[in-house]
Amino acid sequence: SKTAYVRTKPHLNIGTMGHVDHGKTTLTAAITKVLAERGTGSFVPFDRIDRAPEEAARGITINIAHVEYETDTRHYAHVDMPGHADYVKNMVTGAAQLDGAILVVSALDGIMPQTAEHVLLARQVGVDHIVVALNKADAGDEELAELVELEVRELLTAHGYPGGSVPVVRVSGLKALEGDPRWTASVEALLDAVDAYVPMPERYLDAPFLLPVENVLTITGRGTVVTGAVERGTLSPGDRVAVLGADVDTVVTGLETFGKPMQQAQAGDNVAVLLRGVPRDAVRRGHVVAAPGSVVPARRFSARVYVLSGREGGRSTPVFTGYRPQFYIRTADVGGRVDLGQAGVARPGETVEMTVELGRKTPLEPGLGFAIREGGRTVGAGTVVSVSA
Ligand code: GDP
Ligand code: MG
Repeated sequence: SKTAYVRTKPHLNIGTMGHVDHGKTTLTAAITKVLAERGTGSFVPFDRIDRAPEEAARGITINIAHVEYETDTRHYAHVDMPGHADYVKNMVTGAAQLDGAILVVSALDGIMPQTAEHVLLARQVGVDHIVVALNKADAGDEELAELVELEVRELLTAHGYPGGSVPVVRVSGLKALEGDPRWTASVEALLDAVDAYVPMPERYLDAPFLLPVENVLTITGRGTVVTGAVERGTLSPGDRVAVLGADVDTVVTGLETFGKPMQQAQAGDNVAVLLRGVPRDAVRRGHVVAAPGSVVPARRFSARVYVLSGREGGRSTPVFTGYRPQFYIRTADVGGRVDLGQAGVARPGETVEMTVELGRKTPLEPGLGFAIREGGRTVGAGTVVSVSA
């Protein structure tokens, strides 16, 4: 049968971000290749990351690909997302739970709109450590690469990162994937930078268990499985949990990570949780699995929100009290109504206080980050300040 997951190294969640076509997926594949050659990972080819056929076969919407690998000192789960909208949905809402990120910038093209937006979103959701992969370094000249490096450092500084000291590593995902020794070494240097620069985050292991549901699947003969990243606490087979949104209480009958059974899941782990006697259609993405009684869903909250400017892909016109966008909270997508209080208006580029009335009850708490979306684009990024009963 399957080999159990053995926790021998600290586990971190990282991911590639950056503008479309700058080489995120190629680099992800190259990282797995380089580490497979070192014997601490398995090679995952480009096509498997970009199309994730296993998931597609089960008929699940694909918007996030996970690969796992180890360096000498750490175990990583690495996410790569195909499109910009997926970043907003998964990263901003916390589904991807990045402890650090690799910002991929093409040395040929420099920073582009999605580069800037991902940096903004990373800042907003508390990704404190970014390592820059200046990709396609095989194709450009050094002078251009230097200009792009300066530009990226400035962008990071403008968003509150230590742009002057962030590691910037010139790489070629493509050449490393082709086995070129020089560029293989560049990917190793990038991984060393990630190991050294992204600190082990504090894990809330003692807090009551909470897992935002990312996907739901059925394993024939075994039942309903929910997948996602554990936000806090620990979980073991036999534990009781509440599924908020589905309004069911049940028992955990099995736990896996990357296809390996595990005895205990911890905050930060990517897991599949088998739930006893829960019909598949009762649970959806956006629901929350939590220790019973530990979270009370609510509809009203106050928040501090940054309204994206037109330049950042947001609106070009203000919003007023009565505005009804979509709120992406953890993995949930919920409609809601905005009250802007005295001012009654919020202009693009402003940070404002607002009260929100959601269309349905959702687990909320102070400090929780969320995104505001409208017509398929992000128009705001916010943090919950207080929750009303
Ligand atoms: P993504 O959209 O950011 O995931 O980008 P992809 O990984 O799909 O790569 C986009 C294009 O850039 C593809 O045609 C790749 O072959 C090419 N590419 C990716 N990395 C490199 C690189 O290091 N050097 C060169 N010359 N091309 C690259
Ligand atoms: Mg890609």
